[in-house]
Order: sequence, then structure tokens, then C-alpha cells
Amino acid sequence: MTAGPVAAAKADSPEEKRAARIARSLEDEIIDRGWPVGEVLGSETELRERFGVSRAVLREAVRLVEHHQVGRMRRGPNGGLVVVAPDAGPATRALVIYLEYLGTSVEDLLAARLLLEPLAARLAAEAVTEEGIDALRAGLTDEEAGLGAGPVRDDALHTLLGKLSGNPVLGLFTDVLIRLTYRYARTSRRTSPDSVLAATTDAHSWHRGIIEAVIAGDASAAETRLIEHLGSVEEWLLTHRVRTPPGRRSGRPPAPAEAHGQKLAEVIAERIQLDIADDGWKVGSVFGSETDLVERYGVSRAALREAVRLLEHHSVARMRRGPGGGLLVEAPDPTASIRTMALYLDHQSLTGQDLRLVREAIELGCLGNLAKAPDLVPAAAGLLGAAIDRAADGGESGDVFHAKLAELAGNPVLALFLQIITELWTRHSRAERPADAATGDEVRRVHQAILDAVLAGDAALAQHRMRRHLQALTAWWQ
Ligand SMILES: [Zn+2]
Ligand SMILES: [Zn+2]
Repeated sequence: MTAGPVAAAKADSPEEKRAARIARSLEDEIIDRGWPVGEVLGSETELRERFGVSRAVLREAVRLVEHHQVGRMRRGPNGGLVVVAPDAGPATRALVIYLEYLGTSVEDLLAARLLLEPLAARLAAEAVTEEGIDALRAGLTDEEAGLGAGPVRDDALHTLLGKLSGNPVLGLFTDVLIRLTYRYARTSRRTSPDSVLAATTDAHSWHRGIIEAVIAGDASAAETRLIEHLGSVEEWLLTHRVRTPPGRRSGRPPAPAEAHGQKLAEVIAERIQLDIADDGWKVGSVFGSETDLVERYGVSRAALREAVRLLEHHSVARMRRGPGGGLLVEAPDPTASIRTMALYLDHQSLTGQDLRLVREAIELGCLGNLAKAPDLVPAAAGLLGAAIDRAADGGESGDVFHAKLAELAGNPVLALFLQIITELWTRHSRAERPADAATGDEVRRVHQAILDAVLAGDAALAQHRMRRHLQALTAWWQ
């Protein structure tokens, strides 16, 4: 791994910090008011007066709100900051690239899929409606029609099952996992069309079996078949995976489906980010001068500059002025995408139960991983002990213990997902943050008990204690 899941925070100027605070307060206001899509929060002048800031600071705040897909500034008469329907798309795509950058292995990816997708299949079997059944059958028909037409994509039905689970967190995380699988499944040219056809036909028959079980409401069959199917997916990926070939893929047209409804700057920013990734993500190198990039991507200087702002916001790259300047590749930082995803999920009438189910799957999976790696245990003792002490005064605030646990378990996908969950969890339990010492002590005691079980190599007991702990925490959800 080249970097921890949380990159060091950048040193922001006082103006930038101020803008970030205003953006956050605007976003909180939108959430508290039930996300009124289409409503105008205020004109630029009104907002400037309200927050008592310069035009520059307000514009920076608005830019952040726009980047988080929460609002957009509309110019002209009746203009102002308009609330928009949240869109997790750009953040999803950014996180996929980030996970690839971290060096997520096929094993890490499949381990995460094994924790979350069978759960989604089970929930889908319990919740499926006639409408969902139609969608699933249409998906199977499409897939059958596409057999023999090309490489293994194997995504639509998995993403659909995630959606039909009725749990928005599972839906979003499945989407990330399937997109990442697709990036890893770009098969070598030497893979013969026959073997691709055999693999896609095999996957299709698995899908049929899983979907029949979901439609029949047979949750355990759906779950078991999905687990077995993922076994064959992993085998295929491990056999056929090639490292991303060095050098940019040239002449790739922007994908029209993804461009739809997106601002041009977002489309360009994504293409640049993909190209930086395909180029091997050379941190510190210059990806191109402004003039080069205007030419290469066939856009105006203004559109490119707007795209560069997005890349800077996600700390993908930074424009360096002056001689020898250009777009400088940076180590990516997922903070902005994590925040966008948490905001998006907040809009999906999420319940504490939804979040707990996914959190439980992830955290129990991490404990299982830790128990399988006894050499990690000595390091875990020190780090987790320190985390317990730090969190003791503030109860669950920061969730340092849980974050450290996920980090030590060594699966970057799970650690990242837990960060998104924690961001949401913190938002919803803020009023219940244990101010009293008794709750703080209790949390500390439970964390210590979980750690003791891990150190004793007793994964099952650690998992039991974690499960009980998460159930108790859900009571604080509001
Ligand atoms: Zn599949
Ligand atoms: Zn805890």
C-alpha cells in the first residue's frame, strides 16, 4: 500500500477553512430542512450578508457545495443557490480510482464483496416486489442477449441486487465494488473469445439461479448461490487479471451515458483522473501544461480550469503556475468523496438499522481477518490500546478504535467503507454523544473487552462482543 486510507489533511488557508465551515453549515441546513430540491437558499448577495464574508470566500463555499452535489449556483434573475437532488456518481467513481490507487488486491475486493453481496441477496429475497421482479427478469434477458458479444462485465445484475436490497448503504457500496471489479476485469487480449464466452455463460447461469431464489423469496438459497458464484468470479479474476498497461489509452471518447446530466467540467475531471490512473499515478510528475491539456481534451481554457478545481478539491492533482509548471499529480485523498457519499446516503431515508447491518458485516469481517493474522496481534495491542484511551473521554467520538481496527485488518475497501459509515453515524448521534462519564467508561470497557478477545485469538468472542456493542450504539441513532 502506498498510503493509509486517510491521507494527511492539507494545510488550508484561513479563507479556505472559513469557506469549508460555511459550506458545511449550508449542507446541514439543507439536510435539516428535508433536502428541498429546487428551492433557492439565497442569492449570492444575501448569502454574503448572512455569513458576513467576502465574495471570494462565499464563492469558494458555493464551489464546495457544488462539488458535494448538494446545490448549484444559478445565475441571472431568480438566481441563487439552488438545492439539487444529490448524486453519488462522481464520488463513487472517484473512490473506485482511489481504491485502485491504494493497491487494493483482487482478494481484498472479493472479501468485501463476500461480506456485503450475500447480505444484499438475502434482503432482496425478503423485500422484492413485482416491480423488482420485472427488473431482474429484464436484466437476465439483456444479459442473455449479450452473451458472446464481448468481455466479462458481469455487473448489472449484481448492482441491481444491491439496489433491490432496499438498504441504500448496501446499494451504494455494491456499486463501488462492482465498478472496481470491472476495472480489474479488463482482460488480456490473449484471453480467447471462447474462454470469455464460457465464463460469461457460466456467470449467466449462476445469475439465473440466484435471481430465481430471490424471486421465490428463498433467502438462504439466494445467499448460498451468490457466495458460490463469487468463488468462480474470484478464480476468473486471479487467472486472467493483467496489471493496467502503462501508457494512456488514447482517443477514448467521453462516455455519453455518464456525461448525461453532468457538468462538462465533471466529465473532463473524471477523464483526466482515469488517465492519471492509467498512467500509473506518478505522484509529483507533471501530467501536462494547461495548453497541452486544453488541446488533448479538446475543451476551452475556462472548462479546463473548472475541471482542475475539481481535481484539486479531490487532491488528485494541482495546477502549478510558472515555468516548468503544469498539472502536478498528487497523492489522492478520499475525504471529499467520503463526505459526498455520506451526504447522499443521508438523503436516502436511511435508518439506524440499515447502517448497523452494514457496519456489523464490515466490522465482524475485519475481526475475522485480524484473527487470521496472528503476527498482527502484537502491533494491534499497542495501537488499539492507545485508541481506547484517546476515545475514553469523548465516548464514541471519532471512533478511533473502530477505524484502527479496520485499518489493522488490512483491507482498504472495508476501512474506507467504515469511514463513510462513521461519518454518517457521527452526524446522527451527535446530540446523544455521551457527555456523561458513565457512558464513556462503558464504551471504554467494551472496547477493551473486544481487544482482549482479539489478543486471545478468540475471533468468535470478539465478534460476539462487537455485535452487542453495535446494537447498543444503534439506540443512540436519531
Ligand atoms: Zn455475477
Ligand atoms: Zn465503539
